[in-house]
Amino acid sequence: MRKVDYLIVGAGIAGLSAAARLARHGSVVVCEGEDAPGVHASGRSAAFAHFDMDAALVRALTAASLPFLEQPAAKVHPALFIALEGQEAALERVLAGYREWSPSVEHISAGDARALVPVLRTGDSGVVAALLDRNGRRLDAHALLELSRRELVGAGGEIAVKAPVTAVRHDAGRWIVDTPGESFSARTIVNAAGAWVDAVARMAGVAPIGIRPLRRTVITFDVPGGMDVSRWPFTKTVGPGFYIEPEGRGRLLACPMDEGPSPPCDAQPEDEDVALAAWRVEQATTLAIPRLASKWAGLRSFTPDRLPVAGYDRNAPGFFWLAGQGGFGLQTSPAMARAAESAAAGTPWPDALRAVGVTADDLSPARLA
Ligand SMILES: Cc1cc2nc3c(=O)[nH]c(=O)nc-3n(C[C@H](O)[C@H](O)[C@H](O)COP(=O)(O)OP(=O)(O)OC[C@H]3O[C@@H](n4cnc5c(N)ncnc54)[C@H](O)[C@@H]3O)c2cc1C
Repeated sequence: MRKVDYLIVGAGIAGLSAAARLARHGSVVVCEGEDAPGVHASGRSAAFAHFDMDAALVRALTAASLPFLEQPAAKVHPALFIALEGQEAALERVLAGYREWSPSVEHISAGDARALVPVLRTGDSGVVAALLDRNGRRLDAHALLELSRRELVGAGGEIAVKAPVTAVRHDAGRWIVDTPGESFSARTIVNAAGAWVDAVARMAGVAPIGIRPLRRTVITFDVPGGMDVSRWPFTKTVGPGFYIEPEGRGRLLACPMDEGPSPPCDAQPEDEDVALAAWRVEQATTLAIPRLASKWAGLRSFTPDRLPVAGYDRNAPGFFWLAGQGGFGLQTSPAMARAAESAAAGTPWPDALRAVGVTADDLSPARLA
């Protein structure tokens, strides 16, 4: 049985980025059930950072993270928020939430939005108003994962792949964690298992937090007529609708912003969500999507109040929750990793979080009890 200070369950962006920070304070092993990091939510995301997030806490975590989201893992790219007919009030709500962190965001007319994305319909069935943020970030999920992996390994930490955690028990003040190949005795177990965090908790005899995995679907397709879409902004409706994002010169990614409840699993796209993605894009644009280049689905996992958690369980000493990153886990990962470092290792609360007004209590799982 190998002794470690921190045993992290899950090599998604949450587990890996926290592991890289915790390796400064003790020995770290990350156990990942799949054969590589990032196979689930972290490798299936649309990978864009913006402030159109309902929760003030998530916007603050995003603001704290932006300075750390730089090349090669992030690139400045504009974001366009469009109101379809009836969504004008939602556009004002987005603007109010945005202004605090990105004051340069501006109203633009439907015509100006169409100048940026020439396929947008305007008027009755299309765009009636828009907001432009020139300071959005395109993220590269694999570069983010790789940066954390390198930092972790450089500090002496390890990732064990094909190492699903199959049993967890508490014994003499330590957590005994079994995988098919090896067992560990850990001072702290960090539960960063994404959609599976409640399954890991149950294994350990710890009360679940009520995580809800919700399936989200993505399609990609080639744009007809050789149009170069690479400079088009990330374009998102402010209410129900869709978002589109360039994938290179002639390809777009589209998502219908679906939220199908799902058990934790290797999520697959459902036919009706794929059709919905294409239909919503076709309704609001002049695009026809006769054929897809690819499609996939991933699980965005939410706590009951849709806010993330990073903190020790009140009733299980040494059991640390790092969960509920929903649809913002990449763009908040630098801040969440620093919060996890401080809360797990007992180091001073990070300046980056203090500066945006986020406290340890805001992220504590105690609020879910
Ligand atoms: C379609 C889609 C679009 C998205 N778009 C964005 C976006 O634009 N911007 C953004 O910031 N976020 C976005 N997200 C959200 C983001 O991807 C997630 O919030 C983030 O990836 C969650 O990371 P995680 O590490 O918690 O989970 P995961 O990446 O799922 O990692 C959890 C890991 O735990 C492992 N695991 C589970 N159980 C065990 C076990 N028993 N033993 C060992 N390992 C185990 C799993 O194999 C998995 O690798 C999107 C998500 C989806 C699905």
